[in-house]
Amino acid sequence: MATETQLINTRDGASQSPWQQPVLKAFPATKNDLVYDALVVGGGITGLTTALLLQEAGKQVILAEAHSPGFGTTGGTSAHINTFADTTYREAESAFGEDGAKLFAEAIAEGFALISSRQKDCDFESKPGYLYAETDNEVKQLDEIYRGAVKVGVPVAYTDQVPTPVPFKKALVWDRQAQFHPLKYLQDLQTAFLAAGGRVKINTLITGVETKDGIHVSGDIQAKAVVYATHMPPNINLFNFECAPYRSYVMAVKLKSGKYPEALIYDSQEPYHYVRSHVINGEELLLVGGLDHKTGHEDPDKAFANLDQYVRKYYSVSSVKYRWSSQYYVPVDGLPYIGQMPMAAEGIYCATGYNGNGMMLGSVAGKILSDMVRNQPNKYEKLFSPARIKPLDSFSEFVKENADVAYHFVADRVKVHETDSLKRLQPGTGKVVEVDGQKVAAYRDEAGNIHALNPVCTHAGCIVSWNGEEKSWDCPCHGARYDIRGKVLTGPATKDLLTLNINENK
Ligand SMILES: Cc1cc2nc3c(=O)[nH]c(=O)nc-3n(C[C@H](O)[C@H](O)[C@H](O)COP(=O)(O)OP(=O)(O)OC[C@H]3O[C@@H](n4cnc5c(N)ncnc54)[C@H](O)[C@@H]3O)c2cc1C
Repeated sequence: MATETQLINTRDGASQSPWQQPVLKAFPATKNDLVYDALVVGGGITGLTTALLLQEAGKQVILAEAHSPGFGTTGGTSAHINTFADTTYREAESAFGEDGAKLFAEAIAEGFALISSRQKDCDFESKPGYLYAETDNEVKQLDEIYRGAVKVGVPVAYTDQVPTPVPFKKALVWDRQAQFHPLKYLQDLQTAFLAAGGRVKINTLITGVETKDGIHVSGDIQAKAVVYATHMPPNINLFNFECAPYRSYVMAVKLKSGKYPEALIYDSQEPYHYVRSHVINGEELLLVGGLDHKTGHEDPDKAFANLDQYVRKYYSVSSVKYRWSSQYYVPVDGLPYIGQMPMAAEGIYCATGYNGNGMMLGSVAGKILSDMVRNQPNKYEKLFSPARIKPLDSFSEFVKENADVAYHFVADRVKVHETDSLKRLQPGTGKVVEVDGQKVAAYRDEAGNIHALNPVCTHAGCIVSWNGEEKSWDCPCHGARYDIRGKVLTGPATKDLLTLNINENK
């Protein structure tokens, strides 16, 4: 009989998120010869939702996770549950028509409802959400957001009461938004999945599957369908061109006043900021976040410094309890890609490109994908199809993102300066330096030892850059990330960076 394992949640970064309590448990799957109905790859909100819905529908499901459930972005999210999205309903309408925008709103609402119905013991709380504008230009955008939401039937109203110290010109309120503890929610899902007879296999990186006679095989796992719920499907694929990886920053702080807003509050700046409160281990904290940028393109230390400055400008902070960052994917045409994986064997599915809305979209993806595996119709299948024709509007965005990748591929190879020296590398820091004409991703640990890696990303050959906050090597092209030993933290890479032997004194 399988024994229960207590997992201490790890995350794809060195900094700690407040969700990393030892809340997730797993029954390690034992080896057997079963041909599963589905192999779900990835134990975030998408994977666990998909696995649960399939198992409850009578399918035999195994979930394989490279680390432990919650290791990916679900363990580093800020866990707002909204009826609006980063791609505004107005933007969705201009790219996918009025019916497309309405369907998008329904999908968001369905994801929200799914969480509401499944949550059991995960700090789920209903709160109003406010979005405010500080400049005339932001007011124009706010009015557009209002009109777009009203047109698709999403309840929203103007308000002049926002619980924020920031002076604003105009604001919107969405009633009955929500928040929760994302890993406690994963625990809710996993408990139900295991109770229904599902299996979880941890520390299992799926690098790909071989398909023969309609059966997909990876190591000792055989399945009739595969769902890549990995946030970004592994290896080179179409989504490397259609989704751009972004880092986003969050801090959880204690306030001197002891007064915390009972609301989800967002500004309209570019990049934006948000605040909300959460009681973590019995202690009320203000979560402040935002300042997103493309992975590997800006200095994470600077992003945190700016976030720190921002929160202290408006709130009297007594201490900073947590600060962490994580990664999400922006789709070129604004909507997620959910369905049959392009250029893969039939029966291999994926879901990606959620923007900052993966709580709702990851949940509804679970419903869509479980319906598809079961050959059941789903009304969102066409709208979110990864094979959809890109609307013309997104083409310039597509060209811009990929020109940027091409730039990094070339420029980062010649960027290392003569002054970059291994000897000058301070303990606890990393940098791409040149040693004997060879580029090296070098990290000096606190004890002074150098950890040297080949900086060429194993996914598509770009040069990785140092992320001092998460102590990781991040690829600016497609968002693959590695730890200081070169181990893959975040796909689409599935191979580790090569270790180099460097003699520092040579
Ligand atoms: C800072 C931040 C704040 C956010 N805030 C919000 C918010 O408030 N509301 C909201 O709706 N959304 C938010 N998002 C977005 C949301 O968190 C994500 O879209 C969502 O968590 C993605 O879930 P997922 O299950 O698809 O992926 P993940 O949670 O990343 O899970 C994927 C899992 O797959 C595993 N995996 C990857 N590759 C393999 C492989 N080859 N083999 C085996 N396992 C593999 C990983 O280890 C990981 O555990 C935020 C994102 C960020 C970065």
